Amino acid sequence: MKIFEFSLFETPPGVRELRQEVRTLLDRELAGTDPVRRANCWMRHDADFSRALGQAGFIGMVWPKRFGGHDRSPAERYIVLEELLAAGAPVCAHWVADRQSGPLILKYGTEQQKQRLLPGIVRGETYFCIGLSEPGAGSDLASVRTHARRVPEGWRISGQKIWTTNAHRSQFMIALVRTGSIEERQAGLSQFIIDLSLPGLTVKPIVDLTGASEFNEVWFDDVLVSEEMLIGEIGQGWKQVTAELALERSGPERYLTSFSLLKALIHHARGAGSEALTAVIGQAVAELWTLRQMSMSTAAKLAQGQDPSVEAAIVKDLGTAFEQSLPVLAQDLLEVDLSDQSDLARLLAYLLQVFPSFSLRGGTREILRGIIARGLGLR
Ligand SMILES: Cc1cc2nc3c(=O)[nH]c(=O)nc-3n(C[C@H](O)[C@H](O)[C@H](O)COP(=O)(O)OP(=O)(O)OC[C@H]3O[C@@H](n4cnc5c(N)ncnc54)[C@H](O)[C@@H]3O)c2cc1C
Repeated sequence: MKIFEFSLFETPPGVRELRQEVRTLLDRELAGTDPVRRANCWMRHDADFSRALGQAGFIGMVWPKRFGGHDRSPAERYIVLEELLAAGAPVCAHWVADRQSGPLILKYGTEQQKQRLLPGIVRGETYFCIGLSEPGAGSDLASVRTHARRVPEGWRISGQKIWTTNAHRSQFMIALVRTGSIEERQAGLSQFIIDLSLPGLTVKPIVDLTGASEFNEVWFDDVLVSEEMLIGEIGQGWKQVTAELALERSGPERYLTSFSLLKALIHHARGAGSEALTAVIGQAVAELWTLRQMSMSTAAKLAQGQDPSVEAAIVKDLGTAFEQSLPVLAQDLLEVDLSDQSDLARLLAYLLQVFPSFSLRGGTREILRGIIARGLGLR
């Protein structure tokens, strides 16, 4: 019985040149960036940076040229992503659009949707957010209550989404809404592309522990959405979302969020290291390398049109456990005064505040383990 599988990743030709190209861009664009801003960098929004990345051909890399894409291989895309994250580039603005909204539109969208939306994503100018969670529907996503009612002009949407990262800075949301009855659970769900400037829509920021407001509450008060903005088919929202979640869970951002801390630890160990710190760094690098192989293997499966939901859940569970462990290990091993203004102290203080969220966003640990158990035939 084959339940899941990780295979070795084949390095594409020309990889050295590609890495150098990305690094040259990053040296130019990121010079002087505060090390703290390089941690958790896929939550750092910078429209100018996204535009520069778009101009360099590093967004929509694997999409067809006729929609503005660059017809590059998934392996090349992976290498660009890991370079961006390892350097701490502020990729948040376009991240969701490039990672999952664009691929969803390519797979299920109409020709008109593709032509209208994909070129702007590729340029690093059109941003999307994810409208899944609601106050009563997080892990239990099939309980979504935001509903769309058919009217002669299209659909009227009412309800509320929550924890919507970047709703205040994106032009569009892809929302999972109920087009059938609540009793139908998964079968009554559909997806819509919603223009966030429409009348009846209110976005209210939620302030997190660090004082930042990256995510939001979003209210829909009878928002009129035209028929053309339905994506995929009525009643197929659950199936479409499940495929999207594998894209969301398996990428390098699921183990590289604390990478700048690992680099800082290596730097620290060179000057004032201890045997214990050296051992921790050795173990961390071994884990990182393994996670990288697993994540790349999952990316390859996605590119071949397979459904690696279980592999993606494993990558996210192990990857976020890894990136959560680094700040805790650093705090245990080093005598860092967190009120100190050194780069290491500020970086550690920041990561210690945000790391609990790493295993919540994109589906919690318990839910992922349930998916893995189901994959093993245990549930
Ligand atoms: C930084 C961040 C960004 C986010 N961005 C977005 C976004 O852009 N768009 C979006 O839609 N959502 C977003 N989310 C929301 C995220 O997807 C949810 O927080 C997550 O799915 C959990 O849902 P919940 O918060 O409602 O918690 P609940 O579902 O209420 O879970 C509470 C606890 O109970 C546990 N639990 C629940 N059900 C079970 C079960 N069956 N078995 C065992 N344990 C269970 C959970 O694991 C969790 O520990 C974001 C969250 C964070 C932290």
